[in-house]
Amino acid sequence: NEGNLTMTKFVIDPAPQVCLPIRGSNESFPVRRIYCIGRNYADHAIEMGHDPNKEPPFFFQKNAQNVDTSGTFPYPPQTSDVHHEMELVVALKSGGAEISLDNALEHVYGYGLGLDMTRRDLQGEAKKLGRPWEVGKSFEKSAPMSELVPVSETGHLDQGRICLKVNGEIKQDGDLNQMIWKVPEMIAYLSRFYDIAGGDLIMSGTPAGVGPIQRGDKMECEIEHLGTMTIKVI
Ligand code: MN
Repeated sequence: NEGNLTMTKFVIDPAPQVCLPIRGSNESFPVRRIYCIGRNYADHAIEMGHDPNKEPPFFFQKNAQNVDTSGTFPYPPQTSDVHHEMELVVALKSGGAEISLDNALEHVYGYGLGLDMTRRDLQGEAKKLGRPWEVGKSFEKSAPMSELVPVSETGHLDQGRICLKVNGEIKQDGDLNQMIWKVPEMIAYLSRFYDIAGGDLIMSGTPAGVGPIQRGDKMECEIEHLGTMTIKVI
């Protein structure tokens, strides 16, 4: 009963609303769901051992509570192979079901930088056993993110350099125009399966060059037209 929230007496304290800051504003973007596309850059699909031409898109989800804007990434437990995946984050201001390709971009609030941090060893095991990916993908602080930049400032981003350096060395270096499934296509596709809504984020996939990080590393992320984000692994 969402309309009645202020009247509701909870038996425990409700979890705080997860938010992303907005560049140049003291208002915040409330995060609802996080949809992440797999293998959306051909060269990354190839490096993971897949044929980029034959597959329809597929998505997994992270939890809103996985978002972190502290500028740090604590090395997670139960793994010895954590990979960076540098991604464009698409933030939706509205949604629906069965959204047409032509109207899809009208639902975008803005864009940001994000890391789809991955416990690659656990993900690999899950893949091998045909199990879900959550344990590899949806863990605490697994989604470091920047502030969002509204579309009114950036326009829609269908091209531009996307890159990540670890300790000053370029590891991932691609262009948003290499996405196999473009932003409007991802929105339209997701809306056939889910009621997507304002507050939802789409992590739009990573270019080639994913690899492991260690405690003490500095990850410098950049997307042309958006800016930079620096994350320290602790
Ligand atoms: Mn990813």
